[in-house]
Amino acid sequence: MQRRQRGINPSILALAALAVVCTLLLALSAISNSFARVQAARDTAQWIEKFGIVFDAATWISAERGPANSYMAAGAAQAAAAREAWERAKAQTDVAMTAVESLGVTARAIEEVRHQLMAGRVLVELNAMKPLERRTPEEVQQAIETMFKAWDRYRSGVMTRWGAAAIEHEPLLADVVLKGSAFSDLREYAGRIGSYLIGPMTARVAIPDRNLQAINSLRNQIEQTWQLLAPARLAHKPGMQFHDRALDVQRIYLTSGLQLIDEEIENGRRKGEFARDAATFTREYVQLMQPLTELRNGYLQYLRAKHKNQIRTSTIDLFVDGALAVVLLALVPVFLAIIRIRILRPLLRGVADVIALAEGRKPGTRAKDHPIAEIAALFAAIRILEDGLKERARLTREFEKLSQTDSLTGLLNRRGFEIEAHAIAEEGPACLIIADIDHFKEVNDRHGHPAGDRVLVGVAAILRQTAGASCRIGRIGGEEFAVLCPGLGLEEATRLAEEIRLSVAKQDFPLTETTSLTVSLSLGVAPSTFAGSWTEQVRQADAALYRAKSDGRNCVRVVVGGNGPIAPHNISTAA
Ligand code: GH3
Ligand code: MG
Ligand code: MG
Repeated sequence: MQRRQRGINPSILALAALAVVCTLLLALSAISNSFARVQAARDTAQWIEKFGIVFDAATWISAERGPANSYMAAGAAQAAAAREAWERAKAQTDVAMTAVESLGVTARAIEEVRHQLMAGRVLVELNAMKPLERRTPEEVQQAIETMFKAWDRYRSGVMTRWGAAAIEHEPLLADVVLKGSAFSDLREYAGRIGSYLIGPMTARVAIPDRNLQAINSLRNQIEQTWQLLAPARLAHKPGMQFHDRALDVQRIYLTSGLQLIDEEIENGRRKGEFARDAATFTREYVQLMQPLTELRNGYLQYLRAKHKNQIRTSTIDLFVDGALAVVLLALVPVFLAIIRIRILRPLLRGVADVIALAEGRKPGTRAKDHPIAEIAALFAAIRILEDGLKERARLTREFEKLSQTDSLTGLLNRRGFEIEAHAIAEEGPACLIIADIDHFKEVNDRHGHPAGDRVLVGVAAILRQTAGASCRIGRIGGEEFAVLCPGLGLEEATRLAEEIRLSVAKQDFPLTETTSLTVSLSLGVAPSTFAGSWTEQVRQADAALYRAKSDGRNCVRVVVGGNGPIAPHNISTAA
């Protein structure tokens, strides 16, 4: 009967599986997002490193002109030192160009830049080789402008092309490309302004109008670019490297640097009476331009730091997402185990308890103080059920007993006696005595029914006393009693019947305080019908009783052997 259902309900399992699948999908999506962010941040960081290299080369090409100018302006005394400085600058440009080449920039573009640089360098060398007084501002200017072209080639052929490719690869890089280019441009324009003064300064002649116009136009470009970058400069908070570098540009180059230019233009525009010689001017001016280079470097540093941070946070995100996914996935079986241990098992125990109660067995478990209120309530209900069933069983037993008891005498009634008799017959042989009060109708008639009842109660008491605990005694009719004695042989049973008869006969049953009456019993004894039927034994005992009545009452008659009441054998004497 007891159904064994130990597994987890399929619908709970299905829900758990769904939860696992959803968690997996969610985790995969979160992890792949974080992973993509890490990859994107790494990718951008790589691009920024490459931009650093590309922008560096632009700076070196710009910066090579300072020493070139100094070299072209140097007299015999400074020539060796100026040449050495120029050679160092050239070497740095070449190293930077090789680095750019290794990034995979088209060889043709690099070749063009190198070619143009070479042309400029040859002109610089040609100028420098001439004695100082034979160098003309036009030739110096030509050398310088040839160097400008090398930068222009680099700007359009390498920087712009490279930047466009980067933006095409990742549109977000536009910001980096445009700002980086703008910072390079600022450095270049500032450098060019100085270069336009070097020619006249070297030759000590008035600044040609053409140079003044070029300087003016470059100043405009610097101002416009600076204005254009204002939001980018302001976007960085005070104290940040980039912000500080922008302040330096404002304070040093745009103020002192341009003042130096204005001063020397003022001095040299008419007669070429410059305050400084070309070498001094170059040294001072390059110093004042330094913040422009620093600004670009600061920007790249800022970007590097920003992306390093981004890679770190994205990587942390990735690990956190992964860890959360693992925890979530691990929680599902834990959740199922908790459901199983905390809910399912107690429920199954509850089911087993209810089944045990229904089958009349004792419930096996006692989950009294279950932490889950609902389960605790279930076991409380089972306890109430158990108590109710116990009470009902007690009442049933009581009713059963009542239904088998004679209410007047407290002896077994006919039904109760028959049940006992059947039970005894299963166990072994037992003789049956049936006793009937003689002329009882008269007792009723003469002394009244209540008096008759008292006699019945009195006879019952004598039967109990005489027969003892091992015998079953019943009132099986109005004034008819039966005694069943397991273990007694026929002779002993007959003796017992006689003893009963005598006890009743000599008993005075009180009527009033002063009067009493006596009654007698007729008794029939039948031997055990262990092999035969109960009905047969009763029939035999009845026949013997009938015989006792017909033999004059107040006597015992016995059925001896055979299949029925053969001639009853009187072993006692009738009164
Ligand atoms: P016999 O010697 O042949 O047995 O005569 P009898 O009068 O005893 O037999 P009968 O069967 O004629 O009468 C039995 C009487 O028992 C009839 C009935 O009034 C009486 N009786 C039956 N049950 C009760 C009872 O519970 N209380 C009382 N007071 N009398 C009862
Ligand atoms: Mg009778
Ligand atoms: Mg009678």
